[in-house]
Amino acid sequence: MKLFDVYPVNDIIIDKGQGSYVWDDKGQKYLDMYGGHAVISIGHTQPNYVKRLEEQLHKVGFYSNSVRIPLQVELAAKLGKVSGKEDYQLFLCNSGAEANENALKLASFHTGRKKVIAFRKSFHGRTSLAVAVTDNPKIVAPINQTDHVIFLPWEDQAALEKTFAEQGQDIAAVIIEGIQGVGGINVASESFLQKIRSLCNTYKSVYIADAVQCGYGRSGKFFSHDYAGVNADIYTMAKGMGNGFPVGGIIIAPHIQSSYGMLGTTFGGNHLACAAALAVLEVIAQEQLIQNALQVGQYIIDQVVTFPNVKEVRGRGLMIGIELPESLAHVRKELLFTHKIFTGEAKPNVIRLLPSLALRKEDADIFLQALHAILKNS
Ligand code: PMP
Repeated sequence: MKLFDVYPVNDIIIDKGQGSYVWDDKGQKYLDMYGGHAVISIGHTQPNYVKRLEEQLHKVGFYSNSVRIPLQVELAAKLGKVSGKEDYQLFLCNSGAEANENALKLASFHTGRKKVIAFRKSFHGRTSLAVAVTDNPKIVAPINQTDHVIFLPWEDQAALEKTFAEQGQDIAAVIIEGIQGVGGINVASESFLQKIRSLCNTYKSVYIADAVQCGYGRSGKFFSHDYAGVNADIYTMAKGMGNGFPVGGIIIAPHIQSSYGMLGTTFGGNHLACAAALAVLEVIAQEQLIQNALQVGQYIIDQVVTFPNVKEVRGRGLMIGIELPESLAHVRKELLFTHKIFTGEAKPNVIRLLPSLALRKEDADIFLQALHAILKNS
């Protein structure tokens, strides 16, 4: 059997990883400034994480959600503390798309409404509802097409107000990434998020913060929406939550209730997933990784804005987009093949950095020197 062809891939085979570095099967070392697409939050093979997963696997790896799993309660308590959302409720699932799917379903059930506001260039996942609120025609099948979704221009407060004024009674939810990731690292302004919050209050719609990529400390705060001082009704999370183990979740404000059995999943919140997620939160706290993300991220941004041939640098913490002139679409390839540095792509001329939150200043310097050398000669 062949693999179903879904991703364009290069020929590098990753064989092992440690901290912010990976090695290929020939022993070549690479700096990982992509974190496996924002998934590696505490570093590859972080020792406490490995130990906790190993110990859990020896005890019990899985039993179904028909029994109480104290690790889930422990995780909810820790997550409440770290995020400052102690009165919220946690539902555990397995991926970002699944988290958004459940958030949208819950918002619709809670309000009894069908319409959702989403934004241009958004990315929320590839399952049915998640893809319906994603502005990327490439990933839509006919079955995902629905006229319940209203796409508004990013940061357009007037369009948002007009839509609520005309259809507010039908709007179940607004879904927004605090920092758009796949769309090119676009930071939502504080005033835009505050406007969404106040309109959702007025019309009793549900504010869903997609924190799958920009959440979990990456932006330098636990949720990037925290910069605006607003509380979303639902936050969706995945990626960095398990540092590579598939864990997703949604945290739900206390006033939002579900009917019994509406949300559920066989694997969500299993023993191993909880052990992984708990280890991640412990390491984030012990190593002060949210502060580190803020400091090292700002250090990178401050340097890159001074580099030649840089059009714009966007982002917060360790979620950074570097926009180059369109003629410089080859820079990422040069970083990878000449300098052995993995980065991500938003558009061919936008380099996306999503490294581990444990990235050290000396690791950042390796990237900065390489990027500077390429741009200087471009
Ligand atoms: N939301 C955002 C903001 C994302 O960036 C992604 C993945 N790129 C998803 C949702 C979907 O997550 P998953 O691939 O785990 O389903």
